[in-house]
Amino acid sequence: MAGLLPEEIARLTEGGASFPSYRLKQIYEWTRRGVLSFDDMNNLPPEMRKSLKSRFRLFSSAVSAVLEDEDGTVKFQITLEDGNKIEAVILNDGKGRKTACLSVQAGCPAACVFCKTGALGFTRNLKAGEITEEYIFLKKHAPDISHIVIMGMGEPLFNLEELRKASGFFCDKEGFNISRRRITLSTSGIVPGIRDMADNGPDLKLALSLTSAREDLRARLMPVAKDNPLTLLKESLVYFQKKQKSRITLEAVLLGGINTGTEDARALSCFARGLDAVINLIPWNPVDGLLFEGKALSPPPESEIAEYEAALKNRGLNVTRRYKKGRGVMGACGQLGGCP
Ligand code: SAH
Ligand code: SF4
Repeated sequence: MAGLLPEEIARLTEGGASFPSYRLKQIYEWTRRGVLSFDDMNNLPPEMRKSLKSRFRLFSSAVSAVLEDEDGTVKFQITLEDGNKIEAVILNDGKGRKTACLSVQAGCPAACVFCKTGALGFTRNLKAGEITEEYIFLKKHAPDISHIVIMGMGEPLFNLEELRKASGFFCDKEGFNISRRRITLSTSGIVPGIRDMADNGPDLKLALSLTSAREDLRARLMPVAKDNPLTLLKESLVYFQKKQKSRITLEAVLLGGINTGTEDARALSCFARGLDAVINLIPWNPVDGLLFEGKALSPPPESEIAEYEAALKNRGLNVTRRYKKGRGVMGACGQLGGCP
Protein backbone atom coordinates (compact mmCIF):
# COMPACT_ATOMS: atom_id res chain seq x y z
CA MET A 1 0.00 0.00 0.00
CA ALA A 2 2.99 2.29 0.42
CA GLY A 3 3.61 4.04 -2.85
CA LEU A 4 -0.06 4.41 -3.73
CA LEU A 5 -1.79 7.73 -4.31
CA PRO A 6 -4.88 8.53 -2.14
CA GLU A 7 -7.30 7.57 -4.94
CA GLU A 8 -5.51 4.26 -5.39
CA ILE A 9 -5.69 3.58 -1.66
CA ALA A 10 -9.42 4.40 -1.89
CA ARG A 11 -9.90 1.88 -4.72
CA LEU A 12 -7.99 -0.75 -2.79
CA THR A 13 -10.01 -0.31 0.38
CA GLU A 14 -13.43 -0.09 -1.32
CA GLY A 15 -14.40 -3.73 -0.70
CA GLY A 16 -15.25 -4.66 2.91
CA ALA A 17 -15.16 -1.83 5.39
CA SER A 18 -14.27 1.28 3.40
CA PHE A 19 -12.86 4.32 5.14
CA PRO A 20 -13.73 8.02 4.98
CA SER A 21 -11.48 10.06 2.73
CA TYR A 22 -9.75 11.94 5.55
CA ARG A 23 -8.64 8.59 6.93
CA LEU A 24 -7.26 7.58 3.52
CA LYS A 25 -5.36 10.83 3.42
CA GLN A 26 -3.91 10.07 6.83
CA ILE A 27 -2.72 6.67 5.58
CA TYR A 28 -1.14 8.36 2.57
CA GLU A 29 0.62 10.88 4.79
CA TRP A 30 2.05 8.09 6.91
CA THR A 31 3.33 6.11 3.93
CA ARG A 32 5.00 9.24 2.63
CA ARG A 33 6.71 9.69 5.99
CA GLY A 34 8.08 6.21 5.62
CA VAL A 35 6.41 4.30 8.47
CA LEU A 36 7.09 0.63 8.12
CA SER A 37 3.97 -0.71 9.87
CA PHE A 38 0.26 0.13 10.23
CA ASP A 39 0.83 0.01 14.01
CA ASP A 40 2.83 3.23 13.77
CA MET A 41 -0.07 5.19 12.23
CA ASN A 42 -1.00 6.50 15.65
CA ASN A 43 -3.75 8.92 14.61
CA LEU A 44 -5.86 6.04 13.26
CA PRO A 45 -8.24 4.29 15.65
CA PRO A 46 -6.83 0.96 16.90
CA GLU A 47 -9.61 -1.09 15.29
CA MET A 48 -8.88 0.52 11.94
CA ARG A 49 -5.19 -0.27 12.25
CA LYS A 50 -6.13 -3.85 13.09
CA SER A 51 -8.44 -4.11 10.12
CA LEU A 52 -5.82 -2.66 7.78
CA LYS A 53 -3.23 -5.07 9.14
CA SER A 54 -5.41 -8.09 8.56
CA ARG A 55 -6.39 -7.08 5.02
CA PHE A 56 -3.34 -5.36 3.52
CA ARG A 57 0.40 -5.30 3.43
CA LEU A 58 2.03 -1.91 3.73
CA PHE A 59 5.09 -2.98 1.71
CA SER A 60 5.37 -5.73 -0.88
CA SER A 61 9.18 -5.69 -0.76
CA ALA A 62 11.71 -5.65 2.07
CA VAL A 63 15.24 -4.35 2.58
CA SER A 64 17.51 -7.39 2.86
CA ALA A 65 20.87 -5.60 3.31
CA VAL A 66 22.30 -2.11 3.65
CA LEU A 67 25.94 -1.56 2.66
CA GLU A 68 27.64 1.72 3.45
CA ASP A 69 30.75 2.85 1.59
CA GLU A 70 33.23 5.11 3.36
CA ASP A 71 32.63 7.76 0.65
CA GLY A 72 29.01 8.18 1.78
CA THR A 73 27.34 5.93 -0.80
CA VAL A 74 24.74 3.59 0.70
CA LYS A 75 23.55 0.58 -1.27
CA PHE A 76 20.28 -1.15 -0.43
CA GLN A 77 19.54 -4.68 -1.47
CA ILE A 78 15.80 -5.16 -1.70
CA THR A 79 13.95 -8.44 -1.99
CA LEU A 80 10.71 -8.28 -3.98
CA GLU A 81 7.67 -10.32 -3.00
CA ASP A 82 8.47 -12.99 -5.60
CA GLY A 83 12.02 -13.36 -4.25
CA ASN A 84 13.76 -11.35 -7.00
CA LYS A 85 16.45 -9.01 -5.75
CA ILE A 86 17.08 -5.44 -6.86
CA GLU A 87 19.30 -2.63 -5.64
CA ALA A 88 18.87 1.07 -4.95
CA VAL A 89 21.56 3.53 -3.91
CA ILE A 90 21.91 6.80 -2.00
CA LEU A 91 24.58 8.91 -3.68
CA ASN A 92 26.29 11.62 -1.68
CA ASP A 93 28.25 14.26 -3.54
CA GLY A 94 30.09 15.30 -0.37
CA LYS A 95 28.74 18.84 -0.66
CA GLY A 96 25.43 18.04 0.95
CA ARG A 97 23.43 16.89 -2.05
CA LYS A 98 21.91 13.44 -1.67
CA THR A 99 20.41 11.62 -4.61
CA ALA A 100 18.33 8.46 -4.71
CA CYS A 101 19.29 6.14 -7.57
CA LEU A 102 16.37 3.82 -8.32
CA SER A 103 15.95 0.58 -10.29
CA VAL A 104 13.06 -0.05 -12.69
CA GLN A 105 13.62 -3.67 -13.69
CA ALA A 106 15.00 -6.85 -12.16
CA GLY A 107 17.95 -7.36 -14.52
CA CYS A 108 17.95 -5.64 -17.90
CA PRO A 109 17.23 -6.88 -21.42
CA ALA A 110 19.53 -4.32 -23.09
CA ALA A 111 22.70 -6.36 -22.47
CA CYS A 112 25.28 -3.57 -22.80
CA VAL A 113 28.65 -5.36 -22.72
CA PHE A 114 30.17 -3.10 -20.05
CA CYS A 115 27.34 -3.33 -17.48
CA LYS A 116 26.86 -5.84 -14.69
CA THR A 117 23.06 -5.51 -14.73
CA GLY A 118 23.10 -6.24 -18.45
CA ALA A 119 25.09 -9.41 -17.82
CA LEU A 120 22.35 -10.67 -15.47
CA GLY A 121 19.77 -10.93 -18.23
CA PHE A 122 16.19 -9.81 -17.78
CA THR A 123 13.70 -11.09 -15.22
CA ARG A 124 10.81 -8.62 -15.10
CA ASN A 125 9.59 -5.05 -14.97
CA LEU A 126 8.98 -3.51 -11.56
CA LYS A 127 5.52 -2.25 -10.62
CA ALA A 128 5.10 1.44 -9.79
CA GLY A 129 4.56 0.49 -6.13
CA GLU A 130 7.86 -1.40 -6.07
CA ILE A 131 9.72 1.62 -7.50
CA THR A 132 8.16 3.98 -4.96
CA GLU A 133 8.91 1.54 -2.14
CA GLU A 134 12.60 1.78 -3.07
CA TYR A 135 12.36 5.53 -2.64
CA ILE A 136 10.57 5.27 0.69
CA PHE A 137 13.24 2.89 2.04
CA LEU A 138 16.04 5.27 1.01
CA LYS A 139 14.22 8.34 2.28
CA LYS A 140 13.72 6.69 5.66
CA HIS A 141 17.50 6.25 5.88
CA ALA A 142 18.32 9.76 4.56
CA PRO A 143 15.42 12.20 4.96
CA ASP A 144 17.43 14.94 3.23
CA ILE A 145 17.48 13.25 -0.20
CA SER A 146 16.69 16.03 -2.68
CA HIS A 147 17.13 14.44 -6.12
CA ILE A 148 16.23 11.22 -7.91
CA VAL A 149 18.02 9.53 -10.78
CA ILE A 150 16.42 6.64 -12.60
CA MET A 151 19.80 5.08 -13.23
CA GLY A 152 19.76 1.87 -11.23
CA MET A 153 19.01 -1.54 -12.71
CA GLY A 154 17.11 -1.75 -15.95
CA GLU A 155 16.04 0.33 -18.93
CA PRO A 156 13.37 2.85 -17.88
CA LEU A 157 11.90 3.33 -21.36
CA PHE A 158 11.04 -0.39 -21.44
CA ASN A 159 8.88 0.20 -18.34
CA LEU A 160 7.50 3.64 -19.04
CA GLU A 161 3.90 3.05 -17.96
CA GLU A 162 4.84 2.06 -14.40
CA LEU A 163 7.42 4.82 -14.24
CA ARG A 164 4.75 7.35 -15.15
CA LYS A 165 2.70 6.20 -12.18
CA ALA A 166 5.71 6.29 -9.88
CA SER A 167 6.64 9.81 -10.94
CA GLY A 168 3.06 10.89 -10.21
CA PHE A 169 3.71 9.74 -6.67
CA PHE A 170 7.11 11.46 -6.41
CA CYS A 171 5.87 14.78 -7.79
CA ASP A 172 2.43 14.91 -6.10
CA LYS A 173 2.15 18.26 -4.31
CA GLU A 174 0.41 16.61 -1.35
CA GLY A 175 2.99 13.84 -1.36
CA PHE A 176 6.75 14.00 -1.74
CA ASN A 177 6.38 17.13 -3.87
CA ILE A 178 9.69 16.70 -5.68
CA SER A 179 10.22 19.10 -8.56
CA ARG A 180 10.26 17.37 -11.95
CA ARG A 181 13.52 19.20 -12.63
CA ARG A 182 15.14 17.23 -9.81
CA ILE A 183 14.40 13.85 -11.35
CA THR A 184 16.54 12.53 -14.20
CA LEU A 185 15.78 9.48 -16.28
CA SER A 186 18.71 7.82 -18.01
CA THR A 187 18.09 5.69 -21.09
CA SER A 188 20.23 3.57 -23.37
CA GLY A 189 18.43 5.33 -26.23
CA ILE A 190 15.12 3.72 -27.15
CA VAL A 191 13.72 5.95 -29.92
CA PRO A 192 9.97 5.16 -29.59
CA GLY A 193 10.30 5.55 -25.81
CA ILE A 194 11.93 9.00 -26.10
CA ARG A 195 9.13 10.13 -28.43
CA ASP A 196 6.49 8.66 -26.13
CA MET A 197 8.03 10.48 -23.18
CA ALA A 198 8.12 13.74 -25.17
CA ASP A 199 4.42 13.38 -26.06
CA ASN A 200 2.95 11.81 -22.94
CA GLY A 201 5.42 12.37 -20.12
CA PRO A 202 6.62 11.89 -17.56
CA ASP A 203 8.09 15.37 -17.82
CA LEU A 204 11.46 14.59 -16.26
CA LYS A 205 15.00 15.52 -17.22
CA LEU A 206 16.57 13.21 -19.75
CA ALA A 207 20.01 11.65 -19.92
CA LEU A 208 21.09 9.53 -22.89
CA SER A 209 23.76 6.87 -22.48
CA LEU A 210 25.48 7.56 -25.75
CA THR A 211 28.92 6.11 -24.89
CA SER A 212 29.90 6.14 -28.54
CA ALA A 213 28.63 8.24 -31.44
CA ARG A 214 30.27 5.85 -33.90
CA GLU A 215 27.44 3.75 -35.27
CA ASP A 216 29.37 0.52 -35.62
CA LEU A 217 31.17 0.71 -32.27
CA ARG A 218 28.00 1.71 -30.43
CA ALA A 219 26.12 -1.29 -31.83
CA ARG A 220 28.94 -3.60 -30.73
CA LEU A 221 28.89 -2.17 -27.20
CA MET A 222 25.15 -1.68 -26.82
CA PRO A 223 23.00 -4.19 -28.72
CA VAL A 224 19.90 -1.90 -28.51
CA ALA A 225 21.71 0.50 -30.84
CA LYS A 226 21.02 -1.83 -33.77
CA ASP A 227 17.29 -1.05 -33.57
CA ASN A 228 17.86 2.58 -32.62
CA PRO A 229 20.37 4.03 -35.08
CA LEU A 230 22.08 7.33 -34.36
CA THR A 231 20.21 9.41 -36.96
CA LEU A 232 16.81 8.38 -35.55
CA LEU A 233 18.11 8.77 -32.02
CA LYS A 234 19.28 12.30 -32.72
CA GLU A 235 15.95 13.19 -34.34
CA SER A 236 14.08 11.91 -31.31
CA LEU A 237 16.26 14.06 -29.02
CA VAL A 238 15.67 17.15 -31.15
CA TYR A 239 11.94 16.41 -30.98
CA PHE A 240 12.13 15.88 -27.21
CA GLN A 241 13.96 19.14 -26.73
CA LYS A 242 11.52 21.08 -28.85
CA LYS A 243 8.74 20.00 -26.50
CA GLN A 244 10.62 20.09 -23.24
CA LYS A 245 13.06 22.94 -23.09
CA SER A 246 15.51 21.65 -20.50
CA ARG A 247 19.12 20.67 -21.20
CA ILE A 248 19.84 16.99 -21.74
CA THR A 249 22.86 15.00 -20.63
CA LEU A 250 24.84 12.80 -22.97
CA GLU A 251 26.56 10.17 -20.85
CA ALA A 252 29.67 8.44 -22.10
CA VAL A 253 31.11 5.46 -20.25
CA LEU A 254 34.83 5.55 -20.97
CA LEU A 255 36.39 2.19 -21.78
CA GLY A 256 40.19 2.12 -21.83
CA GLY A 257 41.56 2.06 -25.39
CA ILE A 258 38.11 1.59 -26.94
CA ASN A 259 36.10 4.81 -27.18
CA THR A 260 38.41 7.67 -26.22
CA GLY A 261 40.28 8.46 -29.45
CA THR A 262 40.27 11.44 -31.80
CA GLU A 263 37.66 9.85 -34.04
CA ASP A 264 35.42 9.27 -30.99
CA ALA A 265 35.68 12.93 -29.97
CA ARG A 266 34.87 14.04 -33.52
CA ALA A 267 31.81 11.78 -33.77
CA LEU A 268 30.56 12.82 -30.35
CA SER A 269 30.81 16.53 -31.10
CA CYS A 270 29.02 15.97 -34.39
CA PHE A 271 26.18 14.14 -32.58
CA ALA A 272 25.89 16.89 -29.96
CA ARG A 273 25.61 19.65 -32.57
CA GLY A 274 22.17 21.26 -32.50
CA LEU A 275 21.33 19.87 -29.07
CA ASP A 276 21.40 21.79 -25.82
CA ALA A 277 23.52 19.18 -24.05
CA VAL A 278 26.18 18.62 -21.46
CA ILE A 279 28.53 15.66 -21.87
CA ASN A 280 29.01 13.56 -18.75
CA LEU A 281 32.10 11.35 -18.78
CA ILE A 282 31.88 8.19 -16.66
CA PRO A 283 35.17 6.29 -16.40
CA TRP A 284 34.23 2.62 -16.51
CA ASN A 285 33.64 1.07 -13.09
CA PRO A 286 35.24 -2.38 -13.02
CA VAL A 287 33.04 -5.47 -13.08
CA ASP A 288 34.82 -8.81 -13.05
CA GLY A 289 34.40 -11.08 -16.00
CA LEU A 290 33.00 -8.63 -18.56
CA LEU A 291 34.56 -9.03 -21.98
CA PHE A 292 34.36 -7.00 -25.16
CA GLU A 293 34.91 -9.22 -28.18
CA GLY A 294 36.97 -11.65 -26.15
CA LYS A 295 39.11 -9.06 -24.34
CA ALA A 296 38.78 -7.91 -20.74
CA LEU A 297 37.54 -4.34 -20.31
CA SER A 298 39.57 -1.88 -18.27
CA PRO A 299 39.07 1.65 -16.99
CA PRO A 300 41.12 4.23 -18.89
CA PRO A 301 44.14 5.67 -17.05
CA GLU A 302 43.80 9.26 -15.84
CA SER A 303 45.94 10.59 -18.71
CA GLU A 304 43.60 9.04 -21.29
CA ILE A 305 40.51 10.51 -19.59
CA ALA A 306 42.11 13.96 -19.36
CA GLU A 307 43.13 13.87 -23.02
CA TYR A 308 39.66 12.88 -24.17
CA GLU A 309 38.06 15.50 -21.96
CA ALA A 310 40.38 18.16 -23.41
CA ALA A 311 39.63 17.01 -26.97
CA LEU A 312 35.89 17.40 -26.36
CA LYS A 313 36.33 20.79 -24.70
CA ASN A 314 38.47 21.96 -27.62
CA ARG A 315 35.52 21.22 -29.84
CA GLY A 316 33.46 23.61 -27.76
CA LEU A 317 31.52 21.00 -25.81
CA ASN A 318 30.33 21.41 -22.27
CA VAL A 319 31.91 18.49 -20.39
CA THR A 320 31.61 17.22 -16.81
CA ARG A 321 32.97 14.13 -15.09
CA ARG A 322 30.99 11.81 -12.89
CA TYR A 323 32.55 11.19 -9.52
CA LYS A 324 33.22 7.49 -9.10
CA LYS A 325 31.55 6.96 -5.78
CA GLY A 326 30.28 3.73 -4.35
CA ARG A 327 32.83 1.34 -5.81
CA GLY A 328 33.58 0.00 -2.32
CA VAL A 329 30.08 -1.51 -2.13
CA MET A 330 29.72 -2.23 -5.87
CA GLY A 331 27.18 0.58 -5.88
CA ALA A 332 28.64 2.73 -8.65
CA CYS A 333 27.12 3.03 -12.14
CA GLY A 334 26.90 -0.28 -13.90
CA GLN A 335 27.91 -2.33 -10.85
CA LEU A 336 24.46 -3.16 -9.55
CA GLY A 337 23.22 -6.69 -9.45
CA GLY A 338 24.76 -8.68 -6.64
CA CYS A 339 26.80 -8.65 -3.47
CA PRO A 340 30.35 -7.26 -3.66
N1 SAH B 1 19.61 1.63 -18.33
C1 SAH B 1 19.83 3.01 -18.23
C2 SAH B 1 20.04 3.46 -16.81
C3 SAH B 1 20.86 2.58 -15.94
S1 SAH B 1 22.57 2.45 -16.33
C4 SAH B 1 20.96 3.46 -19.11
O1 SAH B 1 21.68 2.61 -19.62
O2 SAH B 1 21.09 4.67 -19.30
C5 SAH B 1 23.17 4.02 -15.71
C6 SAH B 1 24.45 4.50 -16.36
O3 SAH B 1 25.54 3.65 -16.01
C7 SAH B 1 24.41 4.52 -17.88
O4 SAH B 1 24.86 5.74 -18.36
C8 SAH B 1 25.35 3.40 -18.25
O5 SAH B 1 25.92 3.62 -19.52
C9 SAH B 1 26.36 3.47 -17.15
N2 SAH B 1 27.14 2.24 -16.93
C10 SAH B 1 26.79 0.96 -17.15
N3 SAH B 1 27.79 0.13 -16.78
C11 SAH B 1 28.80 0.90 -16.33
C12 SAH B 1 30.08 0.62 -15.75
N4 SAH B 1 30.52 -0.63 -15.55
N5 SAH B 1 30.85 1.68 -15.38
C13 SAH B 1 30.41 2.95 -15.52
N6 SAH B 1 29.19 3.26 -16.01
C14 SAH B 1 28.39 2.25 -16.41
FE1 SF4 C 1 20.64 -1.99 -19.08
FE2 SF4 C 1 21.58 0.51 -18.72
FE3 SF4 C 1 23.04 -1.64 -18.03
FE4 SF4 C 1 22.64 -1.10 -20.60
S1 SF4 C 1 23.74 0.17 -19.12
S2 SF4 C 1 22.48 -3.13 -19.65
S3 SF4 C 1 20.57 -0.31 -20.56
S4 SF4 C 1 21.11 -1.03 -17.11
